[in-house]
Formats: sequence, C-alpha cells, structure tokens
Amino acid sequence: KAKGRDGFVFYDRAMTEEVEARHRVEIDLRQALLDDAFRVHYQPIVDVASGRICAVEALVRWQHAARGLVGPREFISVAEQTGLIAPLGEWVLRTACVEAARWPAHVKIAVNVSPVQFRRPGLFDSVVRALHDAALAPDRLELEITESVLLDHEERNVSVLHQFRSLGIAIALDDFGTGYASLGYLTMFPFSKIKIDQRFTRDVMTRADCGAIVCSAAALGLSLGMAVVAEGIEAREQLDIVRITGVTQAQGFLFGYPVPAAEIEARLAADEPADANGAAGRS
Ligand code: C2E
Ligand code: MG
Ligand code: MG
Ligand code: MG
Repeated sequence: KAKGRDGFVFYDRAMTEEVEARHRVEIDLRQALLDDAFRVHYQPIVDVASGRICAVEALVRWQHAARGLVGPREFISVAEQTGLIAPLGEWVLRTACVEAARWPAHVKIAVNVSPVQFRRPGLFDSVVRALHDAALAPDRLELEITESVLLDHEERNVSVLHQFRSLGIAIALDDFGTGYASLGYLTMFPFSKIKIDQRFTRDVMTRADCGAIVCSAAALGLSLGMAVVAEGIEAREQLDIVRITGVTQAQGFLFGYPVPAAEIEARLAADEPADANGAAGRS
C-alpha cells in the first residue's frame, strides 16, 4: 500500500510481460513439436570400477531457427506449465528407446520423467508401448525422477513405481539432496539408483561439508542395495575422491558431453572390449 499506484502499476506490467513471454515460448514450443525441432543428446554414465560406459542419459535440446541449440533448462518448465511436457516427454522416451535398441545390450538408457508426466494417468502404458515399438527389453530402461514426484499422492506413486520395477525397469532418484524429501523416502520408494547432484560433487575437493554429504549419501544408497551415481564429474581429482566414498557410477564432462545419437553410438562401439564380439568386434 505504501508504494501507492505507481508501485502497483509497475508490478502489473512486469506480470503481464512475464505472462506474455511465457505465452510466446508456449507458441514456439507447440510449433517446434510440429516441426520436429527437438533433438535428443546422449551423455555417458560410467561404471567406476571398470571405467566402461554402463548407461547413457537422454537429454532433450531444442534446435531453434534463430537461437541455435537451446538447453532444457530454458523450456522444460514452460512445457510443464502448459502440458506440452506430455507429448514432448513421450517423444523423447520413444526416440531414446529406438536409439538404445541399436546399442550393446549391457548399456542402459536413462530417460528423465517430469513430475507432471508422472502424475498423468497413462505413463505406464506409454512406456510399455515405447519399449514394445522399439523392441527394447524393459531391463534396458531406467526412468529418472526427482524428489518432487514423491511429495504428493504417495500411495499411487509407490504403486506406479512398483509396476515399473516389476517389469524390470529401473528407477533412479535424480538430483539427490536438492529437494525436501526426507531420508525415509529412500526406503518407501523402490529406487534402483540414486544420483547425487552435481552441487555436492562440484566442490568435493575444496569443501569438507560436500565431501561429507557425498560420503553419507553413497553409504546410505549402497547399504539400501542401490547403485549410486556421482553427477557433474569434470576433473580427475573429483573422480579420485568420490571413488573413495564407494560411489559405483559417475557422469560428467570428464567422461563425455551430451552428444547426438551417431556420436554416442561410435563411442559405445569403441568402448566394447576387443573380444566382446569375436572377429566382428573392433574394425
Ligand atoms: P539432469 O537430469 O540432472 O541432467 C544432468 C544435467 O547436467 C544435464 O544438463 C547435463 O548436460 C549436465 N551435466 C552433465 N555433466 C556435467 C558436468 O560435468 N558439469 C556440469 N556443469 N553439468 C553437467 P541439461 O542437458 O542442460 O539438462 C538439465 C535438466 O533438464 C536435466 O537435469 C533434467 O532435469 C532436465 N531434462 C533434460 N532432458 C529432459 C527430458 O527429456 N525430460 C525432462 N522432463 N527433463 C529433462
Ligand atoms: Mg537426469
Ligand atoms: Mg541430475
Ligand atoms: Mg538436474
């Protein structure tokens, strides 16, 4: 009230601009879906003990006519607010499954699932259809969800996750440590894997508190029988430290950037041990 009319008008205009900006992105996103303007890039996840690629994460990008390749942080939330995440997420899932069907059978494909997608009925059916259409075995697929999925409709969510697990699909808890979920959630939900967020691994060399968090998260996950991934590993020294904590897998620019399908396929072929396919191995 102290601001008087001007303050209110300013606030109103800022609101309008924000709504309009979001609306423009929404129209662009809708058109991009029609124009086939989205791309999936793939980033390797390595097994710490062997150093070999054990999984690949699918990460969506938007090939924008004027702006070039646009990252998901700039459009996922608008897609979620407008419901466009459902067709976009389904497209990513189907594309990634088709691609993964061409890879060596021990390599899993990890796909991010938005809480909005998760809440809609029909996710389970569309996952089953995507696997079937790509002829991909369910145990090749890993769904990455975030803590916010867990905060509502607990019982329904637990049962959906169990449905996935009973098919052999793995469930990873992404960005572990960034949300508000209590540690108790780890025992309530059937996770196969937790991914320790990069904000903790980033400063692991310089900050004792980050080291302590990575250590206890790894110990907790491992004691519950889960795989534990350290995200955001960019340097050898970081890897050396998280290795000591018992983390089983690592992901980050040290092992590879997210790249188009053809590049990850070549990388996977080169990553095969020479004796894997006999004479048909390396060429
Ligand atoms: P995320 O699932 O945690 O994915 C990991 C993010 O960290 C990716 O960012 C990846 O490029 C980045 N990253 C990997 N290694 C490093 C590293 O060593 N250093 C640094 N600084 N960053 C690293 P990206 O591709 O921009 O994706 C951001 C987020 O957008 C993802 O975080 C995920 O939450 C969301 N996202 C991406 N693709 C999809 C999708 O298809 N569906 C949904 N619902 N969300 C998606
Ligand atoms: Mg992820
Ligand atoms: Mg993450
Ligand atoms: Mg993230």
